[in-house]
Amino acid sequence: MVIVMASRKQEDIDYVVGKIEELGYKAHLIVGTNRTVIAAVGDERGKFRLQSLESLPHVEKVLPILQPFKLAGREAHEEDTRVRVGPVTIGGGRFCVIAGPCSVESRQQIIETAHAVKQAGATILRGGAYKPRTSPYAFQGLEEEGLRLLKEACAETRMPFVTEVMTCGQVDLVAESADMLQIGARNMQNFSLLKKVGRTGKPVLLKRGMMSTINEFLMSAEYILSEGGRDVVLCERGIRTFETETRNTLDLSAVPLLKKLSHLPVFVDPSHATGHWDLVTPMAKASVVSGADGLLIEVHPRPEEAFSDGAQSLKPARFLQLMKEIEPLVHLAGKTL
Ligand code: PEP
Ligand code: MN
Repeated sequence: MVIVMASRKQEDIDYVVGKIEELGYKAHLIVGTNRTVIAAVGDERGKFRLQSLESLPHVEKVLPILQPFKLAGREAHEEDTRVRVGPVTIGGGRFCVIAGPCSVESRQQIIETAHAVKQAGATILRGGAYKPRTSPYAFQGLEEEGLRLLKEACAETRMPFVTEVMTCGQVDLVAESADMLQIGARNMQNFSLLKKVGRTGKPVLLKRGMMSTINEFLMSAEYILSEGGRDVVLCERGIRTFETETRNTLDLSAVPLLKKLSHLPVFVDPSHATGHWDLVTPMAKASVVSGADGLLIEVHPRPEEAFSDGAQSLKPARFLQLMKEIEPLVHLAGKTL
């Protein structure tokens, strides 16, 4: 249920929050420019008791939230959410590009890439320290050393970074150094991981599972938000279809659909969606036009030597070209780079 407040005074809000909690619900405050609402989330069976809050003097009305994703949906939260990652704002008319290698491989590789992507206009560095690989014999990531190198590269280039966290046991360590936590496609429905990450309060880049529906994707965001996380960015990265020429099939219709259903920013990762470097720029351009709030792009100084995902990684010069090509489209979409 959503409790629409008639008053914006903190003491009135606190009073209503107290009443909601007394009834056994979690209260999530949503402060908009026009109104303040409180989403009361919990056992659906008690909704009639929540309805009685309408009799309180500072409550305008109590309405049901029909969408199953109560906190991720637009019903109770009309305005677009802006997510802050260090000094960078995602959403709200800014177009943001996150770039970097698939995996952190060495000090030289990550620092070189960080400088190159920053110079080209990316504002957040990416790089995997813990890698979810299909084969147990493939490179698994530099782990703690990878986190240390990401930190060093970011200190040198004054950029925040996002990196994947794969298990609950890694969350505290990764959250200590990373500015944003990535939940990979393979972990999109690892509910205990989603809850643990939600409790850190860190911004989260949530990737769509390769076999997940839009509804399941938003329910995963809901897990993070229901634990108190506020800053979730959704990332479409392609889904499994019968097509084998591309690594995945980029579901671009997910972008306007997610923007319609949810207030959360939406990114596209054309690197994992296509699996081929020469398809990355065309799909990046299409993503901008479809209304995305940003892109996640894999960049490697020498893709032929990459430990993972070399075939889909752009060389720095090609990444710079991508940034030039998307610029007019970003403006066309009414956003700023
Ligand atoms: C990645 O971003 O490096 C990655 C592993 O992506 P995904 O989880 O989308 O496959
Ligand atoms: Mn990758």
